[in-house]
Amino acid sequence: MFDTIIIGAGFAGSVLAECLATQKKQRVLVIDKRQHIGGNCYDRFDDHGVLIHQYGPHLFHTNHKAVFDYLSQFTQWRPYQHEVLGFIDGQQVPVPFNLNSLHALLPDSLAKSLELKLIERFGYGKKVPILELRKIDDAELKFLADFIYEKIFVHYTAKQWGKKPEDIDPEVTGRVPVFVSRDNRYFQDKYQAIPTHGYTRIFENMLNHSNISVMLNTDFKDVFHLDLDSGAMQLLGSEFKGELIFTGLIDELFQGRFGELPYRSLNFQFEHLPCDQYQAKTTINYPNDYDFTRITEFKHISQQTIAGTTIVKEFPQDFERNNPLKNIPYYPVFTEENKAILDRYLNFSKKFERVTLVGRLAENRYYDMDDIVARALAVFADKFA
Ligand code: FAD
Ligand code: UDP
Repeated sequence: MFDTIIIGAGFAGSVLAECLATQKKQRVLVIDKRQHIGGNCYDRFDDHGVLIHQYGPHLFHTNHKAVFDYLSQFTQWRPYQHEVLGFIDGQQVPVPFNLNSLHALLPDSLAKSLELKLIERFGYGKKVPILELRKIDDAELKFLADFIYEKIFVHYTAKQWGKKPEDIDPEVTGRVPVFVSRDNRYFQDKYQAIPTHGYTRIFENMLNHSNISVMLNTDFKDVFHLDLDSGAMQLLGSEFKGELIFTGLIDELFQGRFGELPYRSLNFQFEHLPCDQYQAKTTINYPNDYDFTRITEFKHISQQTIAGTTIVKEFPQDFERNNPLKNIPYYPVFTEENKAILDRYLNFSKKFERVTLVGRLAENRYYDMDDIVARALAVFADKFA
């Protein structure tokens, strides 16, 4: 009945379903264990009418015109530039740490001299990962690097990952580099916008096609089987001769053959408050205080003018497969040790010609929304077009 089965209705699965159905006229079955489409980008109105992001704040930003144009078929946009403050030494200062943060936190004369040094050494507008800045052989810049490492990175990273910054892939802390600039925005991408009717609407529009069937509330393991020796596939007990696109956990698809990969989970605590605005910017990070990493206030994103406001606090936690409070794998854990396990899975996956792995969990990559849309479009062009 189906040409392709897709496990996961996030961006990876939905983009591929949409492309296969519209451009190749394929009959596609999308399976997801959640009761909704959209994966981690799912948003909905809460009981108070505030548009919340159920799995944490999602801000769209990209430099890829092709990605922006592709998604624009399914939504209109509202311009939005994301800003984050960090609560440091009792003050709220811009994050990523920039020249404004420098002047807010350090005495005037020291800040001025450090600003000149940063500009002289790196140039105005440059972004410097903290782990790179710490290697600089200059006493004053070394002092600054240690200060930023201590105030912004080390404790936040301990909360978020249970690790030191140097014990995870440098790309992770490199996402929030020290910015030699007065630009307070979190991202500098060319296209930054919020879908006018929310993210979920994008997925509804993508999947609303007569060739696409969506099966929710269904763990793929209950309806689908992949034989790891022969590569044969079964859907509901009958042989399936088509293609599988898998966007869930790679170790789950391959039945833990090389051991379980670790993931990091989050506990989101939502609060509705009677005030109209809770905080000055969308997100405030708390690197050094409290057990949560950040608080996000959704009305800054949705720009709704209704009374009351909803915030969410993010409490990082270990992922536990069998604990319903901890079993959402938000982030793969990017360490050398895990990469070795991942490589074994990726190598093994090559023998399954009808299986394609795409997505944050399936590929174990720190994909942002635009990255995964770009990746899914590339996979379609390379393998299915
Ligand atoms: P997902 O969205 O995770 O979709 C995978 C789907 O597979 C899920 O729906 C899941 O239920 C399903 N699945 C898994 N296992 C099974 C199973 N056994 N059976 C059936 N279905 C299964 N990106 C940005 O660009 N900007 C941001 O501001 C941003 N903020 C983020 C904040 C947080 C807290 C997190 C965790 C991520 C954020 N991202 C952001 C990244 C963004 O969420 C991802 O890029 C995107 O969700 C990846 O899409 P995906 O399809 O690979 O994975
Ligand atoms: N980070 C930090 N302090 C901050 C913000 C980020 O130490 O105030 C580090 C932390 O390790 C985090 C990583 O930088 O996991 C990437 O941050 P980003 O905001 O990109 O994380 P995400 O939004 O993906 O959770």
